Amino acid sequence: MTDTNPIVVAVDGPAGSGKSSVSKATARTLGWAYLDTGAAYRALSWFVVQRRLDLTDSAAVIDALPDFDYRIGTDPDTYHVFVGDHDVTEAIRQPDVTAAVSAIARVQEVRDFLTGLFRSIVARTEKRGIVVEGRDITTIVCPDAQVRILLTADEEVRIARRSAELADHSASHVGEALRRRDAADSRVVDFMNAADGVTTVDSTDLDFDQTVDAVIAVVQKETHV
Ligand code: C5P
Repeated sequence: MTDTNPIVVAVDGPAGSGKSSVSKATARTLGWAYLDTGAAYRALSWFVVQRRLDLTDSAAVIDALPDFDYRIGTDPDTYHVFVGDHDVTEAIRQPDVTAAVSAIARVQEVRDFLTGLFRSIVARTEKRGIVVEGRDITTIVCPDAQVRILLTADEEVRIARRSAELADHSASHVGEALRRRDAADSRVVDFMNAADGVTTVDSTDLDFDQTVDAVIAVVQKETHV
């Protein structure tokens, strides 16, 4: 642990806003750590499916939490996610896990459990700063972060980006899945509207590098790094 608390950059946004890749690139450019909180929700969803539990059975999911042995790297260059001995880095990106994750993310005990995990990872950061991305980072996980950003983009742009990532799936299928997930997730936390003090970065008309530059400009303005 460092003597001083790390600088925290909190980034929230909807599916397909580019927040994972943009946050990772921002951390890499600054030489800071990176935490993908969605990966923990996805890994828990993978774990629950492996145990053949019913994802909609909140009590069974809550009972399984103490056995959820989860590790995530915070180095943007060696990013990996483990559950026990299983490297689930790729598996948690599969559409079946993606489709299932909102069901467990709406359980308050799950959110409290994972929020505690995220805060302890942030507190243990050895780098000068950490970029933490998800849906409720600016509001719940790190509301006191020095930098708080909402990364948005118009829905059709987000669908087009996600379709490009999932080349084997039709655009209409990807669009429907993304809309369904945003609708389910936004019943639990508001990541479509910036909370007080949160800076919106709209990437609709920006390419990837321009979006990273825009995020870094906000970090520099708020922290003078
Ligand atoms: O960001 P990503 O798409 O990987 O997130 C996967 C899912 O995890 C979201 O659809 C949402 O259900 C959940 N999530 C959340 N709160 C966060 C991060 C992710 O509820 N901070």
